[in-house]
Amino acid sequence: MNNKQQQQVPGMACPQCGKFIPTTITELLTSGHLRCSYCLLKLNIDRYKSATALKALAKVEAAQKRVESTSKFNR
Ligand SMILES: [Zn+2]
Repeated sequence: MNNKQQQQVPGMACPQCGKFIPTTITELLTSGHLRCSYCLLKLNIDRYKSATALKALAKVEAAQKRVESTSKFNR
């Protein structure tokens, strides 16, 4: 009953090429920018303008961490 394919990967869609860029909230907040590995577009993260997106990312990341710790306990 272990469905690993339903794992959520935190990240956002590239506004230029539409590809998914995996990232973490920590990375966004510390580096302040993001680079798309497909079209090499550099995205500057405006923490105020992106507050909604950042909150959504934070939720995904928190959920992922919860899953990780749960799976450790379940062995
Ligand atoms: Zn791109």
